[in-house]
Amino acid sequence: MERPSTQLSVYETAYMRVCTSCRRLLRPDEKAVIFSCPNCGQVEIIRCYKCRKQTVKYTCPVCGFTGP
Ligand SMILES: [Zn+2]
Ligand SMILES: [Zn+2]
Repeated sequence: MERPSTQLSVYETAYMRVCTSCRRLLRPDEKAVIFSCPNCGQVEIIRCYKCRKQTVKYTCPVCGFTGP
């Protein structure tokens, strides 16, 4: 019988998303756009509905790429 030796505690944070542009905490039911950085693809860019509507700039925390 195999049992997982380590239990990941990062599970909770999967639901706690923060908008990359305004740093606001997003609720799971919020209409946010999540996509990989178009430059490095190493990080998820998350934009809340408000930022998407106002086309607020975002900055990739990994490569520093900014985009609309
Ligand atoms: Zn936002
Ligand atoms: Zn990037």
